Amino acid sequence: MLELPAMSSSGPVYQVVVPSPLYRFFDYLAPAEGVVLRPGTRVRVPFGGRTITGVVVGRAERSELPPNRLKRIAAILDDVPLWPENLLALLAWVADYYHHPIGEVFATALPAWLRQSHRAEIRGAPNWRLTNTGRSADPEAFRRAPAQRQLWQTLVDAPDGLDAAVLSTRATRWRTALRALEKRGWVERHEQLPRYRAIAAPRPGPGLNPDQRASAEAVFNSRHEYRTFLLHGVTASGKTEVYLSIIERLLADDRQALVLVPEIGLTPQLVARFEERLGIRAAVLHSALPEAERAQTWLAAAAGLAPVVIGTRSAAFVPLPRLGIVIVDEEHDPSFKQQDGLRYSARDVALVRAAREKIPVVLGSATPALESLRHAREGKYRLLNLPGRTGNAAMPDVVRLDMRRLASADGLSAPLREAIAARLVRGEQSLIFLNRRGFAPAWMCHACGWVAICPRCDARLTYHRGRNRLLCHHCSTDQPVMTRCPGCAGEALRPLGAGTERLETALARTFPKARLVRIDRDSTRRRGSLEASLASIHSGEADILVGTQMLAKGHDFPNVTLVGIVNADQGLYAPDFRAEERLMQTILQVSGRAGRADKPGQVLIQTWHPEHPLFDALARHDYDAFADYLLNERQAQQYPPYSHLALLRAESPAQSAPLQFLKLARQLANSPDDVTLFDPLPSPMERRAGRYRAQLLVQATERKPLHRFLDAWVRALSEAREARRVRWSL
Ligand code: ADP
Ligand code: ZN
Ligand code: ZN
Repeated sequence: MLELPAMSSSGPVYQVVVPSPLYRFFDYLAPAEGVVLRPGTRVRVPFGGRTITGVVVGRAERSELPPNRLKRIAAILDDVPLWPENLLALLAWVADYYHHPIGEVFATALPAWLRQSHRAEIRGAPNWRLTNTGRSADPEAFRRAPAQRQLWQTLVDAPDGLDAAVLSTRATRWRTALRALEKRGWVERHEQLPRYRAIAAPRPGPGLNPDQRASAEAVFNSRHEYRTFLLHGVTASGKTEVYLSIIERLLADDRQALVLVPEIGLTPQLVARFEERLGIRAAVLHSALPEAERAQTWLAAAAGLAPVVIGTRSAAFVPLPRLGIVIVDEEHDPSFKQQDGLRYSARDVALVRAAREKIPVVLGSATPALESLRHAREGKYRLLNLPGRTGNAAMPDVVRLDMRRLASADGLSAPLREAIAARLVRGEQSLIFLNRRGFAPAWMCHACGWVAICPRCDARLTYHRGRNRLLCHHCSTDQPVMTRCPGCAGEALRPLGAGTERLETALARTFPKARLVRIDRDSTRRRGSLEASLASIHSGEADILVGTQMLAKGHDFPNVTLVGIVNADQGLYAPDFRAEERLMQTILQVSGRAGRADKPGQVLIQTWHPEHPLFDALARHDYDAFADYLLNERQAQQYPPYSHLALLRAESPAQSAPLQFLKLARQLANSPDDVTLFDPLPSPMERRAGRYRAQLLVQATERKPLHRFLDAWVRALSEAREARRVRWSL
């Protein structure tokens, strides 16, 4: 176990975390005699012939290295530590819990720009104000210069000065006027920190209903202690309003709020809603931001300038000096789990962080993860329920369409087509959901059965008609569409099956007058195009929305009264033990887009398995009943949350190497009786992006012995020579 030495605060040896795949930190001497560095300070250190950026985490009396091999810290990058000690301890916990090299944990937690040697300075924005002489200038001086006069008067009214954005709205031709006033020494320029607080007057929200009020009260009353709340509210029950009400009151106490949202949930609409209601500018953090901008936002949050941080999973690590609450919206969403490098769950990190900082955390969802529901039922989390939709909105009517008995054209059954037609007549919107992008999931020869396969993956290529290419959805393979079959040299190659592109084409043919908008990763590739599409939905310029799960989450489309689910069965009988839970969550979230305002909504579900308990529960809006059904299955099979699992993965371009490594890993394992190791197996898609993959499952009833075992095992593996032949991860 890695004990963070941050608490041992004396001695001449500094312990520094550097970006390396090793499970340890490194010892260095102070840059000069008498220089004292605090934990959390970034430094430049010599490492393997280069100089790199590391972070001081502690001090010690002596090093295991002989004195003549101890090197000195080369330079100090921060005057004040970048991290407070509680966050350093959190990062150490993460390294420990996920059995991951601490240097890579720090690298995940820190924006790339700050991993280099940039100084952690918040760049100000230029701002102009009157000098003392300028203030006492005689207005007569501007008789022939109206623009200067206007600017002068504007600045007289703003003693703290104004920036370019504000000046442009208040004065005309101000830049020329400004130069004239600067020349006379009447105006001076200075830098001002970016502003996040009190940007505008907060716009009050709707009065909360009794369930919302009780939920907000419960959380607010726990603001001085750690407690986990599970806010289980049906779609459009007003969860976001509950968050806003809690945050509003915490901001009045000068606390900060951290709001974690799923990757595709972080829309401009969501941010605008927080900003308008609270009258602030939100610090928004996600991976698509330019690096310098991301670092600036991170620093503003860490300096306490930003009252509200809204971000995707890595925002869980941002230092916030006055953090008062953490909210995890759509807590069940898989994007909170990172799938490469440091494999962590931002939801779990948020819980541990809140516990350490003694503040409440709210997990919100219409479809909570089974793990969270179980904790709530056992009293570990406090359950807050919002059982009804707000205002006049009712839950939508859910109807199963039995596709074994219905004819369909282009994947659309007659009842679904009729329902869309009825919406078109009434001027209402329909949302048609299909969780598969592209035109067709296969390109196939109808003469000999040949199918286009990715040369680098065990997967079929997807036919994209708009780009006229065959693409692999698992790697970057991108091929021209062949017209002659490599199998039989015939010309009977055709698309097989349907994706959103084909669905859009079919809908356009069936409803030639309807205005269609398609939303998926392909249609929103260009920057700003998602915003434009969403805007066209809100303004009523679209009649039918076609899309993948990008349409499922968080959106409030008041005029959508029909949701059609084209193929509800994807994932019903999949090998992943979480597949049914995910499917239910996705379908319920998409269904939740129907009838959110005062017009009643309808959901039509096309399925070949209408008798499945999932659809029963959906029709009755009873998520809990389906959760019970799944929890019973999990218990019977001893899957989480009734056991704890770890998965050791290995991959390599050589087919036999991963399994060989895992077999060796199994031999090296010194596992106690209460930890079970299964046989290594090829992964469900064995080859991906040119690499063969295999995995070994570890199961335990108790968490503690599992961690103790994994800790020793991972160290042994990292030192094993065979480990170098594969890429492995836990
Ligand atoms: P959720 O986050 O559960 O999906 P929202 O907070 O987005 O729900 O609320 C759905 C809609 O209902 C929004 O348009 C919101 O402004 C509105 N709303 C929320 N609470 C109330 C309320 N108490 N009274 C009236 N309208 C409300
Ligand atoms: Zn053929
Ligand atoms: Zn591929």
